[in-house]
Amino acid sequence: MKIHEYQAKEIFRKFGMPIPDGEIATSDNEVGKIAARIGKPVMVKAQVHVGGRGKAGGIKYAKDAHQAWELSQQILGMNIKGCIVRKVLITEAVEIASEAYIGMIIDRAAKMPVMMVSPAGGIDIEEVAATTPEKIMKLHVNPMLGLQNYQAMNLARFIYGDIKTARKAAQVIMQLYRAFMHIDASLAEVNPLITTPQGEVIAIDAKINIDDNGLFRRPEIEAMRDLNEEDPSETQAKDAGLSFVKLDGSIGCIVNGAGLAMATMDTVKHFGAEPANFLDIGGSSNPEKVINAMKIILKDSNVKAILFNIFGGITRCDDVANGIVTAVKELKPPVPIVVRLTGTNEDMGRRILEEVNLVATSSMEDVVKKAIELAA
Ligand code: GDP
Ligand code: MN
Repeated sequence: MKIHEYQAKEIFRKFGMPIPDGEIATSDNEVGKIAARIGKPVMVKAQVHVGGRGKAGGIKYAKDAHQAWELSQQILGMNIKGCIVRKVLITEAVEIASEAYIGMIIDRAAKMPVMMVSPAGGIDIEEVAATTPEKIMKLHVNPMLGLQNYQAMNLARFIYGDIKTARKAAQVIMQLYRAFMHIDASLAEVNPLITTPQGEVIAIDAKINIDDNGLFRRPEIEAMRDLNEEDPSETQAKDAGLSFVKLDGSIGCIVNGAGLAMATMDTVKHFGAEPANFLDIGGSSNPEKVINAMKIILKDSNVKAILFNIFGGITRCDDVANGIVTAVKELKPPVPIVVRLTGTNEDMGRRILEEVNLVATSSMEDVVKKAIELAA
């Protein structure tokens, strides 16, 4: 799950990180009030879940409250890469002497979090990694031991020659590490971490992604979810207890089990077509899930055929067949449907499907080929 900059800053602030004064606003009048309270030049910053806001005109400097009020009228409602700006962060503008990068992600291959720092901040770290990898220092952190102060100091010294600045940055690096671990983040970064001409170290941008699998034990983080920023079909699927990821192809896939769903997508690709989605209806046999799954898939106008691939174990083929029959009658899908049923109560499932003139195959290869043929 992604959260906004202002929410990430709230979290970082709790861990002691130096963050400029700021507040969130949804209207120009609110912006004016906040900027007047701050009483100094401010930045008006669009809050959307996409990067490159600055280049898109979503980040502006305002010398006073009146200008902030004016600029916020341009930024609120703006469309940045498909996201509508509904909120702006009004935050004290700071003077920048240098920009650095600090960030932490999970290195799955190493099974450890890795802290990355670079004196080349303010630009995409992927770009730095591609063009000047020597400007990035990485440190894997053993989660049993935690990040040690001396390690944070080594990282900070890689960014800053000045020892006093490095000491301040080392503290921020420790705070970033603690925040990352405490909230089950999959990514936490500050880009840029800046120094002021007076030698202060301040985090002026913040980004956090949360590991969805940790959300059940972090209700305060779950509450930060912004549904406006998420794909509506994915939200709907989540509420219906389905795991769904939208893709760009034309074959809608409804499958039980994540492994089989992946295999189905691979097979679709193997025979030269593209899946429209990943969808796992799970191990249960609830016909309601089939109906919801079909509703979600039919919203996608790219879908030219729907493919059911059901391997009956705990899932019963007759239950799924009942779900398909109800869904077909209720939704009258405008695209062809093909079904593969195998396993528990397979024969009963086939008989049920006759009611809507569907013939289930038992081979996965056959059903995929048929779906592609009908979608063409
Ligand atoms: P991003 O473009 O979405 O990553 O947003 P950032 O918050 O990182 O801002 C982009 C750039 O705007 C920064 O790298 C800075 O150069 C500049 N910027 C942001 N906040 C301030 C500020 O308070 N003062 C100054 N002088 N520049 C800022
Ligand atoms: Mn940034």
